[in-house]
Amino acid sequence: MHELSMADAIVKTVLDAAEKNQAEEILEVTIEVGKLTMLNPEQLKFLLDVLTEDTLLESADIIIEEIPVEIKCNSCSYTGSTNLDDSDHYLLIVKCPECGERDLEVISGRECNVKNIKIEKSE
Ligand SMILES: [Zn+2]
Repeated sequence: MHELSMADAIVKTVLDAAEKNQAEEILEVTIEVGKLTMLNPEQLKFLLDVLTEDTLLESADIIIEEIPVEIKCNSCSYTGSTNLDDSDHYLLIVKCPECGERDLEVISGRECNVKNIKIEKSE
């Protein structure tokens, strides 16, 4: 399952960072999830809740920020956001909203990063 491996990777990244910084507690974690990752944020959140049980992350606030899709069209030079309707979303077809071409570069929307971690340090 896509979400599960992602959630697992996120938890490992955060716990790793927390350990390196001698965190006593993790207060808040912000995760950026691009729309093109096809991750379902609710499912991801649910899995994170499950995976963080009995870890430093157990009581942390997990914030998921969805990153919209931005493209650059090679046909008409349009740059900006594009809407993915639900059917396109799962087929991963991204079209230029200006000219309808598919010859484009995806600038954002593919990321799945841990953006920010707030920790409580021991003295
Ligand atoms: Zn175009």
